[in-house]
Amino acid sequence: MASQSLSLPPTHIPYNRIIGKLDSKFLLWPSCAHIKPRRISTSIRAMGSSASSHSQSQYADSVESEAGADTIDYKSLTDEEWKKRLTNEQFYITRQKGTERAFTGEYWNTKTPGIYHCICCDTPLFESSTKFNSGTGWPSYYQTIGKNVKSKLDLSIIFMPRQEVLCAVCDAHLGHVFDDGPPPTGKRFCINSAALKLKPKQ
Ligand SMILES: [Zn+2]
Repeated sequence: MASQSLSLPPTHIPYNRIIGKLDSKFLLWPSCAHIKPRRISTSIRAMGSSASSHSQSQYADSVESEAGADTIDYKSLTDEEWKKRLTNEQFYITRQKGTERAFTGEYWNTKTPGIYHCICCDTPLFESSTKFNSGTGWPSYYQTIGKNVKSKLDLSIIFMPRQEVLCAVCDAHLGHVFDDGPPPTGKRFCINSAALKLKPKQ
């Protein structure tokens, strides 16, 4: 009987859980000897399949929620793989350290409340509340979200050393940071719109 029941539910339920339930059935119903075997089997099967579908849906949910964040090693993606995921402009800006023309990007003048995420890996990078009008024609922020943005010295213009800013998760080039921003940080993160995706507040 036990082996018949065990073979019925899908494999997501640990066997010891089923056996535990079986045992508890017997323990709780010492008079089970009086119940017809078929009835016990049905009862256990129903319990098993119910628990099983619940467990399966939880499993599916957890995989789905983790898929975006944990299963892709963004730093190991090749240029070819990035090209499939991004538009030409997004690829040029984020993976080839390009710069969009001032006053042309999607967000330079946007005031919509929300969170600006990395276009490449969806990491939240800037809050709209830290965005300010820098007059430069690029979206500008005085603060990052946590340590999701990192910076490194950029000597690509020989007489003008700058601090490049990148997504800490996927190394996407975002823009540069300067020391002429407003309080409280005094920083100006000058970012390409094409590196960002605004998710408006619900
Ligand atoms: Zn990223």
